[in-house]
Amino acid sequence: MMTPHSWNRRGFLKATLLAAAAPAILRGAVQAGFEIGLVADAQFADIDDKGTRFYRNSLKKLGDAVEHFNGRNLDFCAHLGDLIDREWRSFDEISRPLAASRYRWHHLLGNHDFDVLDELKAKVPGRLGMEQRYRFFDQREFRFVILDTNDVSTYAHAAGSAERIAAAAALQGLEVEKVRQAKPWNGGIGAAQLAWFDRTCTAARTERRKVIVLAHHPVAPENEHNVWNSPAVLKLIERHSHVVAWLNGHNHAGNFAEHAGVPCVTMRGMVETAATTAFATARIMADRMVITGHGRELSRELVFRSS
Ligand SMILES: [Zn+2]
Repeated sequence: MMTPHSWNRRGFLKATLLAAAAPAILRGAVQAGFEIGLVADAQFADIDDKGTRFYRNSLKKLGDAVEHFNGRNLDFCAHLGDLIDREWRSFDEISRPLAASRYRWHHLLGNHDFDVLDELKAKVPGRLGMEQRYRFFDQREFRFVILDTNDVSTYAHAAGSAERIAAAAALQGLEVEKVRQAKPWNGGIGAAQLAWFDRTCTAARTERRKVIVLAHHPVAPENEHNVWNSPAVLKLIERHSHVVAWLNGHNHAGNFAEHAGVPCVTMRGMVETAATTAFATARIMADRMVITGHGRELSRELVFRSS
C-alpha cells in the first residue's frame, strides 16, 4: 500500500522529470486531489466515564484534532454524528474546540445528538448548523451526500408524534422478522429521503460527478449497528455505479466492508479510551481516497470502482 508520503514523493519526482515537457498538465498532477478532515463520535458530555467511554476527554481530543487540521491544507472537515452523548448544554461546550477551526465543518445527525429533551429534538439540526437534515454539496468533481440515518427512528422525534409512533411500529416489525439491526439506537432512511438520494445520484451522474456518502450509521458489513433498511440503500448504491465510497461512524470499534466495489468505512469513535484519540484526514483523488488515520484510526487506501 502506498503511503501519502510516498505518493507525494513519487508525484514530485514525476513532476520534476517531466516539467519541461508538459508543465500545465503536471501542475495539476502535483496538486492532484484535495484533502478533508474526518471525526466520528466525539460524543461529549460532562459526565463520568463509563466502561471504555471517556466523555469529558473529547473536548481536548477534538481540540487537538482541530489543531492538526488547521496545520494542513484542507477543503473542509466533517463530524460524522454523535457530537454529544446527551444534554443540550453539551453542544455549547463541544462547540468551543470547533470554534478554533479555520475550516468549515459539515455535521451529520447521530442518534445521541437527539438525547435531549423532547421539546428540543426538532432544534438539533439547527444547533449543528444544518439547514436540512439531509443534503448534498459539491466539492470539485465530487458530490458529497449527507444522509440522515435517524429519519425513521424512535429517538429523533418527540414522544407521541406521528413519526415516533410509525417508527416504533416499524421497529417492532423488524424485530419480528429478526432483522439483526432492529435496535432502538439505529434508524432507517425513509421513502422520501431514499427517493431524494436516488435523484441526487442521477443528477450527479449527469454532471459527471462521483458521489461520496457521509452518514452516521453503517450499511455494511451486516451487523447490529446498520441502518434499519440497509438492503434497500445498498441496492440503490449498486445501481448508481458512480457512488464510490460510504463513510460513517456510530460503531466505535470501527469496521470495513466492500459492497459491490464500494468501500464502506466505519470510522472509530473519538470518545473511546482515556488517552488515545481517533480521527483522520482523507486525500481524495479522481480514482482513489487515501485515509491517514491518527490515534486508533487506521490508514487505508481505497480505490474507487470505475463507473
Ligand atoms: Zn451513534
